[in-house]
Amino acid sequence: MTTSNITITPSAHPLSDAERGERMNKPAFGRVFTDHMVVIPYRDGQWQQGELKAYGPLMLDPSASSLHYGQAIFEGYKAFAQPDGSIKTFRPEQNAERFNRSAARLAMPAIPVELFLEAGDALISIDRNWVPTKTGESLYMRPLMIATDPYLGVRPSEEYLFVLFASPAGAYFPQGVKPVTVWISEDFVRAAPGGTGEAKCAGNYAASLMAQSQAQEKGCDQVVWLDAVHREFIEEMGGMNLFFVYKDGEKITVVTPELTGTLLPGITRRSLLEMAKDLGYATEERKLSVQQWRDDIASGRMTEVFACGTAAVITPVGVAKANGFEMTINNNENGAVTLALREALLGLQHGTKADTHGWMHTVC
Ligand SMILES: *Cc1c(COP(=O)(O)O)cnc(C)c1O
Repeated sequence: MTTSNITITPSAHPLSDAERGERMNKPAFGRVFTDHMVVIPYRDGQWQQGELKAYGPLMLDPSASSLHYGQAIFEGYKAFAQPDGSIKTFRPEQNAERFNRSAARLAMPAIPVELFLEAGDALISIDRNWVPTKTGESLYMRPLMIATDPYLGVRPSEEYLFVLFASPAGAYFPQGVKPVTVWISEDFVRAAPGGTGEAKCAGNYAASLMAQSQAQEKGCDQVVWLDAVHREFIEEMGGMNLFFVYKDGEKITVVTPELTGTLLPGITRRSLLEMAKDLGYATEERKLSVQQWRDDIASGRMTEVFACGTAAVITPVGVAKANGFEMTINNNENGAVTLALREALLGLQHGTKADTHGWMHTVC
């Protein structure tokens, strides 16, 4: 069987229903993978015929350039079981477009958006029994691209591999949503102007791990990144974008740091800016300093803070700490605006609320 660009070779050893059920019951994120994956090689200046086959190790030359010089990018999006039994993905074409922007920044080739979508749809269709059905659960899709030239010279690779695999994801907060505590990092930066902060590349994450360990040593769950130049303006939190909720009488405004080239332009961020308007909130994209954050919490104008991203959807921020100060937000409780946005987004993704923006992509 073949879709136009991907040859399908079903796994000879898919898990039995019982084995699959057992694995899907264990909620650990990112440790369980479905029966299949897609690989599409790029060489001679073009994408070759792809292959959908059993999930398994890749064969790579030790001199493959991604292992040395880090031409490696990835994406993350989710497939959701719908009330009518169909399966839909959330804005996957946005992930395809961002994947290509990341590729361009790392001097890697673009993949046609249709091919990116075709790979996802083919994988979900063959592994549709792996899509969890409960609210808050989904099938997490992980596309990536690595440079595979067996060459130690420093230059853009001429050969690449696109890989796509999937992992069933349980509810991110199995015990219910609970605010996180964040460490505002003054010692480390994630991204500098002119760097790769806007690209979803592997190296950004490698560079963040030490700061994440420091945050944990300080008793925090996550790092908040500041701008590299002034060490003053808030950028984002770990692998999620941040939102700040202001209340002035009846008027609610949600504020998120503007995209300066050093923040990752989240698809959840972008979607929430539109959904906030649907819920009657004003929205602003602007710079916000740590001092302003402190002042606005102290004055009571800022009432809630939350982070957002594909994996955890929306996570309230309850406490923020840094060298020399600590502040509590909304009594370290879940805020009403945070929960309203979370419910609206989850409702849309799970098909219990109308898809008024046309964001859901029907797979099968
Ligand atoms: C992926 C990512 C986000 C969130 O993006 P979504 O498209 O909403 O999942 C935010 N920050 C960083 C650093 C990321 O890698």
